Amino acid sequence: AAKAEGKGRSQIFHTQMDIDYHYRQRLKADLREAVAEGELGLVFQPLLDIATRKVVSCEALVRWTHPEFGPIPPATFIPLAEEMGIISSITAWVIENATHECRSWSSPVGVGVNVSARDFRGVDLPALIDRALTQSGLAPGRLEIEVTETALIEERDLAGSVLQTLADKGIAIALDDFGTGYSSLSYLSALPFTKLKIDRSFVVDIAEDPRALRLLANVARLGRDLDLMVVAEGVETEEQLNVMLSETSVQQVQGYFFSRPLPAKDVAELIERFNGKPMVSTRPENVRV
Ligand code: C2E
Ligand code: MG
Ligand code: MG
Ligand code: MG
Repeated sequence: AAKAEGKGRSQIFHTQMDIDYHYRQRLKADLREAVAEGELGLVFQPLLDIATRKVVSCEALVRWTHPEFGPIPPATFIPLAEEMGIISSITAWVIENATHECRSWSSPVGVGVNVSARDFRGVDLPALIDRALTQSGLAPGRLEIEVTETALIEERDLAGSVLQTLADKGIAIALDDFGTGYSSLSYLSALPFTKLKIDRSFVVDIAEDPRALRLLANVARLGRDLDLMVVAEGVETEEQLNVMLSETSVQQVQGYFFSRPLPAKDVAELIERFNGKPMVSTRPENVRV
């Protein structure tokens, strides 16, 4: 009986592996086509000053809707694009579009874009960015580059020199998803960051758990001590926002409480609607404007 059971299981195992393998191959082929045909999309999520509730910038996030399987998360397709060596075309496209959109907004808020570890080797980022800024007419001070710690581990020296070149132009450099990678602390002083984005895993429990709140408060203070702009990701509730404001030195917030990532047209409208004024949450139960 044990043997039959074992055999059955291993068949299921192979079948599942086959499905995964074929699914990935299919996604890769379709992703290549989607990138070539310009079928990716961009959404933008506001970052707000915590004290004034004014929008300070928006992060550009890439989207892919597969014709058959529906929306595929970037956490799934970005690693595939990296494997396939086509991430730099995505990055180039994102930077061109994001700078263009940002230039069209009615108030001078900034725009953030995510770059991948592979981009440091795969493309001349400073040249690509110069071109995008020139073509869009956007001031360098309104652009922000977000890099994850994982990206830095893979390309530390190269990343350091590219980021310095960008920082020298006045472009903001954010360390993204802070606290989730490895040996993160050493990067903070070694590389030219201007901004620290604390991962949302540090935010999720702060309204209920005093120790979680102390941890966030201390990570934020570390960032402030190093003269970094400190951002908290993943703020979903008013309670989280309130304890953050009263108990930590976090300066900017991003999260579903204020707004989900929005299509370009909707974020442009949002910026125009709150134009320089404090924003209220766009969650339906909170909208008062
Ligand atoms: P990220 O750069 O840390 O982006 C923030 C992610 O958190 C986004 O997920 C956003 O939708 C999500 N988020 C924002 N507020 C909340 C919240 O209140 N609660 C929760 N649960 N989630 C929230 P998304 O769009 O799925 O992107 C995932 C990751 O994919 C990004 O993490 C980034 O690392 C990567 N990514 C997205 N767009 C690009 C891109 O254009 N290029 C590259 N290289 N990576 C990208
Ligand atoms: Mg990011
Ligand atoms: Mg992030
Ligand atoms: Mg994140």
